[in-house]
Formats: sequence, C-alpha cells, structure tokens
Amino acid sequence: MTLEFLRSMVAINSYTANPTGVNQLARLTAAQFEALGFTAEFIPSANPAYGNHLVMTRLGRSNRSIGLVSHLDTVFPPEEELSNAFHWQIEGDRIYGPGTNDIKGGTAMMWLVLTTLCAEEPEVLDSVTWKLMWNSSEECFSPDFGDVCRRHLDSRTMAALVFESEDRCGSDSLLVVARKGRATWRVAVKGRGAHAGGKHEHGANAIVQAGDLVERIAGLTDYARMLTFNVATISGGTVLNRVPHETVIEGEFRTFDPEIYNKAKSDLLALTGSGIVRSATDGYPCQVQACVLTESRPWPRNAQTDRLFSIWKAASEELGMVVDSQERGGLSDGNLLWDSVPTLDGLGPWGDHGHCSERSADGTKLPEYVEISSFVPKALLNTVAILKLTTAQ
Ligand SMILES: [Zn+2]
Repeated sequence: MTLEFLRSMVAINSYTANPTGVNQLARLTAAQFEALGFTAEFIPSANPAYGNHLVMTRLGRSNRSIGLVSHLDTVFPPEEELSNAFHWQIEGDRIYGPGTNDIKGGTAMMWLVLTTLCAEEPEVLDSVTWKLMWNSSEECFSPDFGDVCRRHLDSRTMAALVFESEDRCGSDSLLVVARKGRATWRVAVKGRGAHAGGKHEHGANAIVQAGDLVERIAGLTDYARMLTFNVATISGGTVLNRVPHETVIEGEFRTFDPEIYNKAKSDLLALTGSGIVRSATDGYPCQVQACVLTESRPWPRNAQTDRLFSIWKAASEELGMVVDSQERGGLSDGNLLWDSVPTLDGLGPWGDHGHCSERSADGTKLPEYVEISSFVPKALLNTVAILKLTTAQ
C-alpha cells in the first residue's frame, strides 16, 4: 500500500518549474490522506511560476499539534527523465526513480507512520491536531512556505517533523539537527571600454578586475569555521578587440553559525566601491557592486531541536537501533521553521544519489534511489518517538 502510493507519486513529474505536475501531485497526495480523515487546503505560491503548496489538517481532541513537513517538487525536468530513462524501477532492495529519495519517499513515510498510529494507537492519533504541509517549490527559493507553516503552527505545536531522507554513517541512521544557511550573491564590475588597438591605456579592464575579486571571494572560505564561498559563474567581455567594460560574478556562501553568516555577508558587501584596476591615462577605476540575491538563514544547534532528538534517541535505544545526529550542509524547510517551533529533520527513509538521474553501464554513475527495507524500521522509530513526544508533555 505504501509502495503503491510511492509509485503513483513517482509517476507524476513534479519538477519545480512544472506547476501542472506539482498541482497534480498535490491532488493525488490530498486524496490519499483524506482517507485518514485529513482536510486539504491548496495555497498558491508567492511565485506564480510554481504550483500550490498543500496543507492538510486533522483536528484532534486538543489543540496541541504536530506538524509533518515534506515537499512536492523534484529537480528533474520531464525531458531529462525521458532522455535518461529515469523512472520507477525496482532492483533488489532499491527503487530507482525521480523523487524516490528526495522526497516522495518521505511523504510515503508520513503515510506509513500515520496509518500505523491509526491502526495501533487510534487514541493518540485522535488526541492531537495534525498539520501536514507540503512545499510546492522547496528545491528553489520559497520563503513564503515558511509563512504558510507558521500560520498553521503555534505555541501549542509540539514539533515540526521534516521528512527529508536520512543519511547514514556505516549502518547508523543520522537525523538532522542543524543545517547551514545559504546566501546567493552577485558581484558586478563596471570598467571602461576602449579600443584594444588604438586606446588600450584608456580602458579599465573589468575582467582583470574580476580576476582579483574572484581570488578575494574564494579566500573568504574558512573550513575551520565551516564557512564556504563558492564562486559559481563568471561572464564578461564581448569581442576580442575591445577592453571589456563589464563582468558579472555569481555564487553562494554557506555556514551554520548565524554570527559567522553575518560576518561573511558584510565581508562580501564590503567589496562594493572602487576597484584596484584603473585606466593608465587618467586613473579611472573599475567600479564594483556586490549584492546578496537570496538568503536562507542558518538553522543552528538549539535546545528545542536537541530535546526532540533526545526523544528519537531514546526511542531508538528501546528498539535496539543506532541513531545519531547530523549537522547537514544542504538546506531544507527546517531552515524556515526551527526558531518558530521545535524542529527535527531527516525522518524519511534511507537512499542515495539524490538529485542525480544518470546511469552508466559500469555503475560509476547511479541515479537517485530509496532502499525498500529502510521504510519499516524508520516508521517504527518515528511512531514510537511520536508516542513518547505526545506523552512527554
Ligand atoms: Zn528535499
């Protein structure tokens, strides 16, 4: 039943920029959970290019609530799925296919946990108000989903549980207790164009200036403080007989610590001003303009998340499983929620090669898959931990 649901989700292309597919998946998901007594609400994204967010509610006998968070979108355009023959495929204990691991397997896990509670502990299911929330556009920048969640959660919310897939260290399951924040940025250089033959010295070369900036930005990386700057793209210049007048550099930076994040941001913005590359005739300097394009705040280690983790840890010990915590580099909706309600992430099944669709004959390239045998133990862990959570307060 759970795998049938997963298969029907994977069959729908829900690339972030395919709102028709995302909305179709939202309707399928809503129909599935309506059978458990949930009511659906489709909420338009702030960005009209994306599909609807989905929120489903099941009112309990108290207004204490638990939020379960997943997303509808994947990173694979329909053409890529076709050209790489990337679709639902079971091989041994693995199911390959778009979103099997990130994150349709997580949505299937939510279903498995809730149906288990419904069958084994209906009293507990009925005692709590449940909010299930799916972001339509998690793989792109969608801070409005944080607002949607906050409107549905409050001070009576015991937890926001995020069903991104788990990582492993050996055979130990890793749950996510912190995530790096990420800022994307652009540094634009305006020089002064000139004829490269007749008036070379009149020019202020924007590419030469950019070369200096690239070195300086890359130099802001500090692995010891878990701060990384990635210079990702650079473009500039037009024709070969012209001193280039424009260059644009773009990239991102990431770190866990809010203070390090703020310092990194101010270091980047401080590049704005006159550059060091000047025209030889009159000293005309290149002009540098640094700006931050988007920001997703860090989710640092915090007491509320650690308390949730300790409940999952205790549940794992009762079940004879080994569970540990992980601070992960990638973003999730946890970044949007951790300081509003206690948040724990990595509650989905285990798999690997997320965001990959290619497969090579020699096996050096493998596409995304989820491991079938990871569903039941993880669902058991989540269910026992949720029972502990509801009785702990
Ligand atoms: Zn995801």
